[in-house]
Amino acid sequence: MEKHYDYIITGGGLAGISLVHFLQQSSLQDKRVLIIDKSKKSENDRTWCFWERERSPFEFLVYHRWQHLDFHTPSFSQTLNIEPYTYKMIRGIDFYQYGEEMLISHVNVDKSVENVHEIVNTDSGVLVTTERNSYTASFCFNSIRFEKINKKENHYLDQHFKGWTIRTKKPYFSPDKATLMDFRVPHQGETRFVYVLPTSENEALIEATLFSPDLLQSEEYDRIITDYIKEYLPEIGEYEVTHEEFGVIPMTDFKFSAGENNIVNIGTAGGNTKASSGYTFCYLQKHLQKMVAQLEKTGNPHVKKSIRQRRSAWLDRIFLNVLQNHRVPPPKVFGTLFENNKPSQVLKFMSEETSFPEELRIMSTMQIVPFFRAMLSTMLPI
Ligand SMILES: Cc1cc2nc3c(=O)[nH]c(=O)nc-3n(C[C@H](O)[C@H](O)[C@H](O)COP(=O)(O)OP(=O)(O)OC[C@H]3O[C@@H](n4cnc5c(N)ncnc54)[C@H](O)[C@@H]3O)c2cc1C
Repeated sequence: MEKHYDYIITGGGLAGISLVHFLQQSSLQDKRVLIIDKSKKSENDRTWCFWERERSPFEFLVYHRWQHLDFHTPSFSQTLNIEPYTYKMIRGIDFYQYGEEMLISHVNVDKSVENVHEIVNTDSGVLVTTERNSYTASFCFNSIRFEKINKKENHYLDQHFKGWTIRTKKPYFSPDKATLMDFRVPHQGETRFVYVLPTSENEALIEATLFSPDLLQSEEYDRIITDYIKEYLPEIGEYEVTHEEFGVIPMTDFKFSAGENNIVNIGTAGGNTKASSGYTFCYLQKHLQKMVAQLEKTGNPHVKKSIRQRRSAWLDRIFLNVLQNHRVPPPKVFGTLFENNKPSQVLKFMSEETSFPEELRIMSTMQIVPFFRAMLSTMLPI
């Protein structure tokens, strides 16, 4: 006989742990919950950066914050004051440890380290089958990407990156200022830039990031980082690489299924990754908060997309079309955005918080002809 829960959460990464957190803060806190992940989540496998105006639901986990961000293209350099926003960093390991503590302190939440094979709707709820067990529940919140992205019929770019955390011998960085995007690296016809995220005078995460269809060999990312350090961080002196991170984020207008009946897809699997930037953290938190509030009120966790979200999805599609078809050189796309608009307005736009007139104003500052062509082609099948 299968063990029964109120909710099963498949995938205990960012979305899974966030959902447990929001459930615990709601009137649904006594529900019997099972969270299943194939990994123990004991590795520091990613670093989340994001910007916010208000306090994060995970403010207590923020490792570092910046109010000033450098931005560079070959023809434009500026230090952006992003007030009222703050750029924040949360380390994966701190987030996962918080998840573990939460599970230990709540007796109604179980965790199982298993590989999930299948999730199906049944007459009375859902059946989740793993390598060893079967479980039933009223709802399954799934963040495992079972769905294959149809790359041919959608815009698609991989955002792929390798980051080094480095520790310098002498104090070198200003921890109150980060480099958001530095496009001065050779871009080889694709979007390539470097982040520099100092967390102390001696420590920074330096990340080589590309938006392109093909991944590089590991040494090629290393070369971008070493060349960057040589050219743009002179006099850094001796340093050691204390940690490496690698990641791939899909940038696509493919419509991830939101799930149906008693299965609800969340996180990247549920379409919470912003197609034009790969940022996920804040969109996912906002979505889950809305979902839990609706579940509390109506018993239905399926949240409909707002008109603004649908408008943003269309704008993302235009940006992806411009990038994928090289309609404008990549540094110019982002350079134009920051050169012609207030930084806080660009971040508001990228956070999907702008009104329609504000979006029109921002779009009018972009390269009109290529963006208009991209807009027309988003109306046709790919
Ligand atoms: C290295 C990296 C850095 C990133 N940095 C940022 C950033 O700075 N800012 C930002 O906004 N976004 C960032 N992202 C994008 C996004 O925020 C993350 O991918 C985020 O973790 C997505 O959350 P999720 O819950 O959807 O997926 P995940 O956190 O990946 O969780 C999915 C979970 O499912 C588990 N799983 C998979 N298959 C199975 C299976 N068959 N059975 C059981 N468990 C399974 C995995 O072990 C994993 O724990 C980054 C992504 C990566 C990869």
